Amino acid sequence: MKIVRSINNLKQIIKTFRDNNCIISLVPTMGNIHDGHLALVKKAKLMNTICIVSIFINPTQFDQSHDFNNYPRSIKLDCKKLMLHNVDIVFIPSVSTMYPNGINNYTCMYVPNLSEILEGSKRLNHYKGVTTIVSKLFNLIQPNLAFFGEKDFQQLVIIKNMVYDMHYNIRIVSIPIIREISGLAYSSRNTLLSKDEYKIAHKFYLILKDMADKLRHNIHCVVNLIEIATNQLEKIGFIVDSLYVLDSKYLTYITNSSINVIILSTVWLGKIRLIDNIKVKIFK
Ligand code: AMP
Repeated sequence: MKIVRSINNLKQIIKTFRDNNCIISLVPTMGNIHDGHLALVKKAKLMNTICIVSIFINPTQFDQSHDFNNYPRSIKLDCKKLMLHNVDIVFIPSVSTMYPNGINNYTCMYVPNLSEILEGSKRLNHYKGVTTIVSKLFNLIQPNLAFFGEKDFQQLVIIKNMVYDMHYNIRIVSIPIIREISGLAYSSRNTLLSKDEYKIAHKFYLILKDMADKLRHNIHCVVNLIEIATNQLEKIGFIVDSLYVLDSKYLTYITNSSINVIILSTVWLGKIRLIDNIKVKIFK
């Protein structure tokens, strides 16, 4: 496994693989590698591709500098885990490598509308930062395939939209959310939870799952279910930041004829913001 920090070195190594007709996969991450990231890597390797994992904590997608500064960093351990999973290249650029004009003066990629709703309405420049860094990585690496998790569902929809609109010749491959046995979705931020917070964190998923089971049989009770789930979550100590039931294709409000629906939610547990979602196929 090659650990690469400079663009020149990255391009040279990729060229060698490409000259040998290899298919190149990219798995963009912010590090603190866990089983969710590793599932993306496994999928890329299963598809017989050269797997490049990028580790870059992207400052432009954070609204608050303390969130950026406190984001967990564990490069050494990350590299060990990635090596054990036969990753070919780990790309770990610096901020000045990715933003040569600086982070206050950068050329951006922006997907309108979708970047402004839901999470985007609460985190103003978040998706602009995400699409900018992903497009920079796409431009540098020019992968054939790029892998993203459904955990960040709105992000996935926005990236697919960007690829379509910008004519990137890249296939986006997604995987379902990978969870701990308790049901808690793996997340780099889980390591920031206190012991007591960690003990209740999985209830976030259990309450959403209960909501999904009921919704599946009766889409008409959605308002009621949102209220019940919100009360249940807040009773245990979560603060509900958002809880939506939406059409999973366009992230629009559901109608009586909706079939493919998604429950999307973010909650605060102490100082940590957790995100989760469940797809629901409505019985008609
Ligand atoms: P991050 O490092 O949080 O930016 O995540 C990098 C990629 O891993 C994104 O495409 C995420 O959606 C994906 N990912 C993170 N956690 C999970 C998970 N628990 N299951 C599946 N994919 C995940």
